[in-house]
Amino acid sequence: MGLRTGDQYVEGLRKRKHVEIYVMGKRVEDVTAHPFLKPSVKSFKATFDAAFDEDTRGLARAYSPFIGEVVNRFVHIHQGPEDLVAKVKLLRKLSHKTGTCFQRCVGWDALNTLYIITGKIAEREGRREYVERFIEYLKYVQKNDLALAGAMTDVKGVRTLRPSEQPNKDAYVRVVEEREDGIVVRGAKANITGIAVVDEVIVMPTRAMTEKDAEYAISFAIPLDTPGVKVVVGRQLNDSRRFEEGEIDGLPYMFNHEGFLIFEDVFVPWERVFFYKEWRWSGVFVEVFSNYHRQGYAGCKSGLGDVIIGASYGLARRLGVADKPHIQEKLTEMAFLNETMYSAGLAASWEARKLLRDGGWWVNPMYANVTKHLVTRFPYEISRLAHDIAGGLLGTAPSEADFKNPELRPLLEKYLQGVPEFPAEERLRLLRLLENTSISVAYLIESVHGAGSPQAQRLSIQRVYDFQKVEQIASSLAGIKTAMAPDLKVEPHRQTDSEK
Ligand SMILES: Cc1cc2nc3c(=O)[nH]c(=O)nc-3n(C[C@H](O)[C@H](O)[C@H](O)COP(=O)(O)OP(=O)(O)OC[C@H]3O[C@@H](n4cnc5c(N)ncnc54)[C@H](O)[C@@H]3O)c2cc1C
Repeated sequence: MGLRTGDQYVEGLRKRKHVEIYVMGKRVEDVTAHPFLKPSVKSFKATFDAAFDEDTRGLARAYSPFIGEVVNRFVHIHQGPEDLVAKVKLLRKLSHKTGTCFQRCVGWDALNTLYIITGKIAEREGRREYVERFIEYLKYVQKNDLALAGAMTDVKGVRTLRPSEQPNKDAYVRVVEEREDGIVVRGAKANITGIAVVDEVIVMPTRAMTEKDAEYAISFAIPLDTPGVKVVVGRQLNDSRRFEEGEIDGLPYMFNHEGFLIFEDVFVPWERVFFYKEWRWSGVFVEVFSNYHRQGYAGCKSGLGDVIIGASYGLARRLGVADKPHIQEKLTEMAFLNETMYSAGLAASWEARKLLRDGGWWVNPMYANVTKHLVTRFPYEISRLAHDIAGGLLGTAPSEADFKNPELRPLLEKYLQGVPEFPAEERLRLLRLLENTSISVAYLIESVHGAGSPQAQRLSIQRVYDFQKVEQIASSLAGIKTAMAPDLKVEPHRQTDSEK
């Protein structure tokens, strides 16, 4: 098959058998009909529709050499820098269509990471069982155009202790039994994006490990309806608006969700185990994945930035202040911050490198970390400027129900209106869109913590930037006689562990 439509994806969700999903304490039977999760299904669905929509089909399709067919880019293994660039561009465009996180990137980054890690183990150690299993799985995913989540973040207990040192032995997902036909795993992953609305989940290790942590150094993939898998969906700000079934207050009516993913002694057959007791490779695994994910934020967050800047400009026009110098200055600053994030992601993509003899295209790690570090800051500044331009009504506007009350409506139309050519309802719609996007989990909290909290990027930047080399450059310019001549490489960057 190779490509599914959005409707086929939704139909597939309905066919899952034993999924155990909870929203606000209650078990959910059908995520596609549940008011809390419907907005997530709609947003995830956009990644499938993108392969058919006129304005995105070029970006959203790619040719897979593994199955010899065109596949949805969200299950594609990058074949060169152009593919990494297409990823960033596609994500920006999809943010325009959804106004939120569309939740399919983590699984995609997990596929590309496993391709590199299993390939490296085969190249370096001659052990081919992982790569063979993974390629079989990849073909299955591509042929069926599966919706995948990626689960890396363990609940982690005491942050300063390694998995094997934790008072709670299950603070990191681990193997509790090894059988002839597979392994049994226990533990929980936190903050997993889109988890209730996927076909399968790829589980990955979350940190570098030592030999003592071997039982925690695992990666595998299973269908979400595997017995023993439980999902507890998290709450977000303003989420009860989804239950109101309105058409203004909950704009854009597409939302991501995150959830706790619990494994209560879950059986995983060997053919789905891609990494087991490989503690030596855990650090590199995390490095490869997190850099892919950090690069991707350039696209989705700049796309959300466009929505926020657009709503701000629209509101400024309705207030009659769009041409005032300080508003123009603020809008320009927002555009500059937004395009800076995007440019960094494009640089990380164009400066891609191969980690395997035959492919394994990875991002430039310095620029990927710079991208994500910008993303931990700039969306907050863009939101602050948007809130400044929008005026206080952003936080105090009457409800959609008030607006639709025949007695109140004429009054609200009269008093909510600014520049007469724009109806008051348009202002209310832009305010709600701006409120729900600029104070959202997808735009703010995910920007800080997704793909690792800010300190993780600072550590990477500190490791990769070559301070000795720049001292040599400075010393030789300063005429210090003992200075070593700097080598000819242009950027003062060291190799990461993944590249060694
Ligand atoms: C909206 C959203 C979506 C997400 N989606 C996914 C997903 O789909 N899949 C997935 O796997 N993960 C996902 N994540 C998880 C994300 O990767 C983590 O939140 C991130 O890695 C930070 O981990 P944490 O939340 O456990 O915070 P913590 O690690 O607890 O960090 C909290 C603070 O403690 C500091 N800290 C932590 N450990 C140490 C230490 N040893 N020494 C000193 N300081 C320390 C950190 O720097 C930070 O300031 C998502 C997160 C969010 C918010």
